[in-house]
Amino acid sequence: MAADTKITIAIDGYSSCGKSTLAKAIAKQLHYAYIDTGAMYRAVTLYAMKNGYIKDGAVNSTLLIDDLGKIYIRFRYNVETGTSETFLDGENVEQEIRKIDVSENVSRVSEIKEVRKKLVTLQQLMGREKGIVMDGRDIGTVVFPDAELKIFMTADVDIRMQRRYDELMAKGHKVSMAQVKENLIHRDFVDTHRKEDPLIKANDAVVLDNSGITREEQLEFVLSLVIERKNKKCSSETSLK
Ligand code: C5P
Repeated sequence: MAADTKITIAIDGYSSCGKSTLAKAIAKQLHYAYIDTGAMYRAVTLYAMKNGYIKDGAVNSTLLIDDLGKIYIRFRYNVETGTSETFLDGENVEQEIRKIDVSENVSRVSEIKEVRKKLVTLQQLMGREKGIVMDGRDIGTVVFPDAELKIFMTADVDIRMQRRYDELMAKGHKVSMAQVKENLIHRDFVDTHRKEDPLIKANDAVVLDNSGITREEQLEFVLSLVIERKNKKCSSETSLK
């Protein structure tokens, strides 16, 4: 039955498009797991910063690669807040990884092939049972190229900048609008131009530009695609029997 068929939902796109907001809402609606892969790259970046492996934006990749085997990242669900939180080596780093200094360094860390290899392997393990919504930059192209539903999100840069600024302000972070804009433009550039797993739209991804639509409208749109993809999967499985 289509209702019982579990699929994989991959959400990729530019920085601050609202990927995680959408992904969380879909996961809640479908009772699926949600994985924020950006948080994993942020956690590795925080590790590198804490250990002095990043100086003036330059990453000492040799030292970081040597340590990769001992960096332990996991997510734990917080019943009080109803959200999943990121833990680095047993410490809750959910707040720290969202800070602007981590945002300023994360794209350089994400360029490192060995870092990507470690995190992609972990992500594939997390999603092996399906019934998962994962957001990031390479989910539909590298992590789950066979995902039944791939969404590629985009939005006007000024709208994205305002959203990220409001989000950081609400969390009490001290940043200027100019800093937020520069960071968004920088990350998008590095993420789309890097050699390893750059951000590109998968051929079979559905483009979702949410500049002028509400959260409710985008959720409704994606849920209608979910039903369609579940039915498709279900009928292809039936015809194989
Ligand atoms: O999603 P978020 O903005 O938190 O991601 C932070 C950074 O992590 C991105 O700018 C990108 O450099 C990196 N990232 C990545 N691949 C992913 C997810 C995030 O390279 N799948």
